[in-house]
Amino acid sequence: MMIKINSKFILINSEVFPLLKNAELLIDENTGKIKSVSEAACNKKNTVNSEKDKNYSTLIIPGLLNAHIHTELTIEANGSTPHIFSEWVISLIKMRMNLSAQETAAIRKKAYEISIKSGVTAIGDIVPLEQFEEYIANCAINYKAENYTAGKDFKLQNLNSKDEAGKYGIAHSNSNNNNNGYDNRYVQYGKYDKYDNYDNYDIDINNDITVKRFNIEHPRIKSYIEIIGLAPSLADIKIKELEKTLNYYYKYCNNNEKSKQRGFYMSDVYDKNDDFQRSEYTAEDTFLPGLSPHSVYSVSKELFKKLSEKNKEWKLDMAIHTSEHKSEISFLKEGRGDIAENLLNALQLGAFSNPSKMYGTANYSTPADYLNSIEMLSSKTALIHANEINEHDIQIIKDSGASIVHCPRSNDFFNSSRLPLRKLLDNNINVGLGTDSLYSNSSISILDELKYARKIHNEENNHCVSSKELFKMATVNNAAILNIPHLTGTLETGSYADFIIFKIPKDLKLTEDNVFDKIIDFEEKDILKVFIGGKEVYRNVRAYSV
Ligand SMILES: [Zn+2]
Repeated sequence: MMIKINSKFILINSEVFPLLKNAELLIDENTGKIKSVSEAACNKKNTVNSEKDKNYSTLIIPGLLNAHIHTELTIEANGSTPHIFSEWVISLIKMRMNLSAQETAAIRKKAYEISIKSGVTAIGDIVPLEQFEEYIANCAINYKAENYTAGKDFKLQNLNSKDEAGKYGIAHSNSNNNNNGYDNRYVQYGKYDKYDNYDNYDIDINNDITVKRFNIEHPRIKSYIEIIGLAPSLADIKIKELEKTLNYYYKYCNNNEKSKQRGFYMSDVYDKNDDFQRSEYTAEDTFLPGLSPHSVYSVSKELFKKLSEKNKEWKLDMAIHTSEHKSEISFLKEGRGDIAENLLNALQLGAFSNPSKMYGTANYSTPADYLNSIEMLSSKTALIHANEINEHDIQIIKDSGASIVHCPRSNDFFNSSRLPLRKLLDNNINVGLGTDSLYSNSSISILDELKYARKIHNEENNHCVSSKELFKMATVNNAAILNIPHLTGTLETGSYADFIIFKIPKDLKLTEDNVFDKIIDFEEKDILKVFIGGKEVYRNVRAYSV
């Protein structure tokens, strides 16, 4: 089956044939991939979203990617949230101390929903090692995408209790009454489902209808397993834990060579002994693991070296928080500053606060220099933040092929130096865009991040980085960082049908010169629909009614 969508404008990506007019997007429903995109004449047959008789037009663009987020920290900061890094970390630890695994899962779910609603179709998420098994169990169920017949395949229940619903129910949301504007029309069931808001769901009592489960409740996820261990004696223990966790992941996967080469092992197989199946909608590229040795101030040299050695076999992509704060440099060189003196002492890690003595790190001028010396930098590495970098670092990063994830609002939250973005782009370093967590930002929307990036790198800085370049960072560059290039962040033939439909005024004149600025001007309320892998995952009910 094919899905055809017509739109007044379609933007393929920031590079190729930038803007198609009166265009048509053809999607192969079985693969979730784009069959074709062209300026062909509109054919009303089999067309959804026909614009005839509507008082608005539409623009389709690739889904946005958020290359750095901590979904488990989707906790709002307020006026009393500290902006000094050590105090911020401690306040976070205190706040999270009492959260149960279930509460953390609910926080993550909130992050997925907010992301999708704001047009984010793929994220680079940081997940603590000890949470990863639970995390994958929660995500795994979402890979099912099959036809189910109500009453035949599932026992219908009254949704009197959340628990029952989670076990047996097929539930339809009553979209018009859905007070959060989130049209989650898709059926939800399964033993992993944990929903808070059952009041809005009605049982579908029509026994013979066949419903298709499009239940993609999260964006595509690159899940970087976070590893922390400053005590050198922890290195072996952490590696063992990591091996166990990765084995748990591999249990769901085969050793498909192609996947292996790309650094992940998911493919379209299923384990009959497990409640985990896939059909036409494959998990490949939907949930991928990566590694995140946290930073130079939270991982020992031993652990870094062992990870680097092990990863020759694993071939996983890495994300490392690097040069986010000036105090990382003083920690490394002389065991001084906010991290060495305040943070580590508060965490009772004072014994490890002087790596210059322990590891002779004073020989290295910066975190990037140090990471390079212990073979942590390569084209599979993304350095998160990288605000406090010098010319030498830029050269090292360029030579290694590592990427950078820029998180401008989070960086300003901590009053860090401004990323030398123009210089990095001129050096052909791949720079992406991330929000970091909500706890150091005002939202986790990449549209909002783009607005802020435009303000600081363009409006306030001699127009030095264009809106087109910023858009590329949030799409194509981020896809390269998450190691799914050409598959998302673009609407080329053969890529996944991950896209946003914007509602635009009928008389809006979009050109190749103004389209990127207009996109950044758009707000969440302008989004009509969001698709992932050809499935509609969000419909903005309010936008239709206005
Ligand atoms: Zn972060």
